[in-house]
Amino acid sequence: MAQIIDGKSLAAVVRARVATEVRQIKAQGGTVRFAAVLVGEDPASQIYVRNKQRACEKVGIEFELHTLPANCRYEDLTALICRLSADKTINGVLLQLPVPPAVVGDRLTEVLNLIDPQKDVDGLTMANLGKLVDGGHGLIPCTAQGILYAIQSVCPDLTGKKIVMVGRSRIVGRPTSLLLTNHDATVTVCHSRTRNLAEHTRSADIVVVATGCPHLLTADMVKKDAIIIDVGINRLPDGKLVGDVDFDRVSKIASAITPVPGGIGPLTVAFMLKNIVAAYCRQHGG
Ligand code: NAD
Repeated sequence: MAQIIDGKSLAAVVRARVATEVRQIKAQGGTVRFAAVLVGEDPASQIYVRNKQRACEKVGIEFELHTLPANCRYEDLTALICRLSADKTINGVLLQLPVPPAVVGDRLTEVLNLIDPQKDVDGLTMANLGKLVDGGHGLIPCTAQGILYAIQSVCPDLTGKKIVMVGRSRIVGRPTSLLLTNHDATVTVCHSRTRNLAEHTRSADIVVVATGCPHLLTADMVKKDAIIIDVGINRLPDGKLVGDVDFDRVSKIASAITPVPGGIGPLTVAFMLKNIVAAYCRQHGG
């Protein structure tokens, strides 16, 4: 039976470090302030934003939520992002995704790039993604950091490890593959057009799955003693929350595995907090 990588307790360690840093900033008279932008009334996004708010408040980060209706104009959104980016009292700005297509169309990249890269706590501006390509000294996407932290909790040295990243989205798959490559792993990226996915995953020391397909990774697709990181969050028709991995069967073969819920989700929020404090420090010459 695999070791369960407990994302909740790993996240608690990261949050405690952030809380200490925020206390030190406050002791020196500083305030860490974070603004989230939510467009529309998507229930899942509302829950994610509320979780972020709670997480901020617990570590002493001031949180403000800016909402726009789903029928707002593109210009309303860009004006808000520009205003928050220019506000010197705000250290971090995040646009909750997805944004209704009726508002952004195919211009999401343009909107994200309006966020000051020094305040881009999701790490999704071209400037920060570019720095990741260059070896990584910008703000790094939170989920990618959470994945790296989860892997290193059971395998500290990734040098030469063969990792298969299933999924190539801008928010998870691509930045994660870059971050893991920067840590000297040999990374193969698979996606919906990959032929014979199982052939790739079966040869991997570590498999990271971020597809949004419940139970995509099955036991026959995994090498014995592989490390399995499940990023997926899927709500089944019966209301149950599951990942992209057939946890019950794969956990009998793997050496370590993240659960859903309680795996990468809490780590993503913890690394968002870490990025907010990192953003504050960059803006104050740290
Ligand atoms: P996305 O839809 O943008 O991308 C999905 C990726 O999976 C694509 O690159 C696609 O090519 C690939 N894919 C789809 N079907 C496939 C298949 N059958 N075989 C191989 N590849 C396939 O999704 P995303 O934003 O990257 O999110 C992926 C999942 O991770 C979702 O369930 C999402 O809810 C979850 N997620 C979790 C966290 C977290 O904090 N735990 C954060 C972000 C996303």
